[in-house]
Amino acid sequence: MSDNTLNLRREILKTIGTGAIATSLSACVAAPLTRKYPRPYSRKSWVAPRISIENVIREVVGHRPFRPGGFVVKSEKLGDKTVVHNYGHGGSGITLSWGSSALAVRETMGMEHRAVAVIGSGVMGLTSARLLQDAGWKVTIYTRDMARHTTSNVAGGEWGPYGAHDPEVSSEAFKSQLAFAARIAHHAHTNLGGSVYGVRWLELYRPTNTPDDREDRPFSHLYPYEDVLGPNEHPFPTKYCKVSLTMMVEPGTFLRRLTEDFYQAGGKYVIQDFTDKEELLALPEPVIFNCTGLGARQLFNDKELTPAKGQLVFMPPDPAIDYMTIGGGTSNLYMFPRTDVLLLGGTYKLGDWSTHPEPDETARIVREHQRLFSEF
Ligand SMILES: Cc1cc2nc3c(=O)[nH]c(=O)nc-3n(C[C@H](O)[C@H](O)[C@H](O)COP(=O)(O)OP(=O)(O)OC[C@H]3O[C@@H](n4cnc5c(N)ncnc54)[C@H](O)[C@@H]3O)c2cc1C
Repeated sequence: MSDNTLNLRREILKTIGTGAIATSLSACVAAPLTRKYPRPYSRKSWVAPRISIENVIREVVGHRPFRPGGFVVKSEKLGDKTVVHNYGHGGSGITLSWGSSALAVRETMGMEHRAVAVIGSGVMGLTSARLLQDAGWKVTIYTRDMARHTTSNVAGGEWGPYGAHDPEVSSEAFKSQLAFAARIAHHAHTNLGGSVYGVRWLELYRPTNTPDDREDRPFSHLYPYEDVLGPNEHPFPTKYCKVSLTMMVEPGTFLRRLTEDFYQAGGKYVIQDFTDKEELLALPEPVIFNCTGLGARQLFNDKELTPAKGQLVFMPPDPAIDYMTIGGGTSNLYMFPRTDVLLLGGTYKLGDWSTHPEPDETARIVREHQRLFSEF
């Protein structure tokens, strides 16, 4: 076992304690993720997803809780309460969930394990709650919405830590925090592969006209391989196509399973909509986890937190499709072949609070995807 592996194992155990999830996480850090296989695959056939405007089942809108400076994980003392913040993960909350929540739970080190209130039942609330339970806390989730009505349930589900901040704005300290969270989250999700938690590995294709990968890819080491296909090596209407292997998390399955795990471990739910911080601080628990996503803007007056509106278009699932695509269109185009739906994205509109799907965007998303797969 390398020094890096040993250090990582120590980091994870230090971070989230000695509960069941900690044990399973530590068990999966045996192999360092530095392998790179040039051209490891040879796709025998390219199958195009069935895409047409007549096939649209539903359009959905969600708001990524984006902070240019990056997500907030920190604790503060407010009166006789300790508040641990864990919010603002932009377009990477599903990806970073276990890692960010592990960092948040680390804030409780040295505290007497008693009752804790977790505010929010999206992916951050649920993963924080599970890690707290494993560490011996008695957890109550207070939330306005159950998981199926959260932004987390709207997410596409690609495992990718690139949408959590603006690298031009965020600090070096934040970038280290992100790297740590991504590494832990990667191990955790890897360990949950399979249909029970809805996590599986898929190739991701990124059609582009840029020959090499000049963009900053600080998380390449978390992708078993990344490569660039040249002209004539792929059927997309671009010169090049980047290919990598990553995970896809089915948000519905993942959240449902986390909720079941939470109940099974003795967790309780209270439906409550908090209008301000004072109402929160009146809760009986001495420790409060703030996992309210975009809700933290109002509750804790965080004006850096901004919605990035995303629109998704659902079609019937297409089991023949065994890859994802991102890019190749005018704006934020992606196709994920989930088992519940074939998902097409999308849009990324910073500062747009509107909640309605836009018919023009649906038409564009469908049209551009039809073009993307027209040469298959
Ligand atoms: C279109 C779209 C596509 C995305 N695709 C991906 C992807 O492919 N991969 C990825 O990793 N991420 C993706 N994301 C991002 C991901 O969905 C978010 O980062 C993540 O859901 C944030 O989780 P959260 O738990 O912090 O917030 P939420 O899921 O919003 O949960 C917040 C919780 O807090 C509760 N709450 C808020 N305010 C209050 C209040 N005042 N009182 C009581 N309760 C309150 C809510 O009811 C809810 O339960 C996508 C997001 C969108 C919109």
